[in-house]
Amino acid sequence: MLTHAHCTSCQQPLKDVVLEGHYGQSVSADVCGNCHLVWFDAFESVRLSGLGWVGLLREMMATPRASQNVPPAMQCVRCHGSLKAVRNLTRFGRTAALECPRGHGHFQGFALLLAERGLVRTLNSRDLAALKKENTPPSCLNCGAQVESVPTELSGQTPTCAYCETPLMMFDLPRLTQALLVRHGEALAVNEPRRQLAIACRGCGQPLDATQDTRCEVCDHVVAIPSLERIKPLLAQIEPILRETRPRQARPWGDKLQRMRGDASSTQLHRWMGHARDIFSSNTSHYGDTHKVVNAIGVALLMLLLYWLFG
Ligand SMILES: [Zn+2]
Ligand SMILES: [Zn+2]
Ligand SMILES: [Zn+2]
Ligand SMILES: [Zn+2]
Repeated sequence: MLTHAHCTSCQQPLKDVVLEGHYGQSVSADVCGNCHLVWFDAFESVRLSGLGWVGLLREMMATPRASQNVPPAMQCVRCHGSLKAVRNLTRFGRTAALECPRGHGHFQGFALLLAERGLVRTLNSRDLAALKKENTPPSCLNCGAQVESVPTELSGQTPTCAYCETPLMMFDLPRLTQALLVRHGEALAVNEPRRQLAIACRGCGQPLDATQDTRCEVCDHVVAIPSLERIKPLLAQIEPILRETRPRQARPWGDKLQRMRGDASSTQLHRWMGHARDIFSSNTSHYGDTHKVVNAIGVALLMLLLYWLFG
């Protein structure tokens, strides 16, 4: 990772954020809070663990509102060549990024980065109704601007943000939670999600299961999360769960095996087995092949005798 990389849109220094990747590796992201852009070197974003995402989301929350719109012509932070707008088809739909054609990496706006990972979805009529009931105007997940002219009905096309022209999106709560519950390359199961990962219903206060619920079973209110700010309580609950998770290389069983091996090495049988292994694997015998064969027959006979005595 380069030090002192600058955002090629606003010329401010990018913040180099080191995040946790899978299997204890680290992943670097360069964040511009000014423009709500993240630079990732090639393929780095796919290596983020759940804890890495928690860190990145917190970083994205640090500046709620982008101070400028992103001009379309931007440069690579490494080679300063011009970036190419690419549209990638992911399993969650199309996302766009500004990519260096020489493979150095790509810039993505906050919303597109979230969309690529499937953490958000486009605004629908149910969200609109829910936000209206809560008296919360929808806001743009990309630049943080509040949407002033709220549509009353959605007719076909998703409305876009007047400032950055990004389609209006909502966090997809169950998907977000599932995506974050990954550490050491494994999805984590939470025993009591309604207690451990509860998010309060905005209609009646009932705790909802963040891994499942998209609407409240008590008051029928729909879960609509239009800002990074609103996922703060979820991140606070999820982080300790992730930190407690250890890699699955079964430490206790490993220790037990080590102890068993230690015991066995002191026994007569183990020493004899060691001797037998040496004979079978010896390739540099001074006595030639005949000696090896005779030795092997001797060992085989001894094993038969042992089997007959104790088997
Ligand atoms: Zn910038
Ligand atoms: Zn480049
Ligand atoms: Zn916007
Ligand atoms: Zn409710």
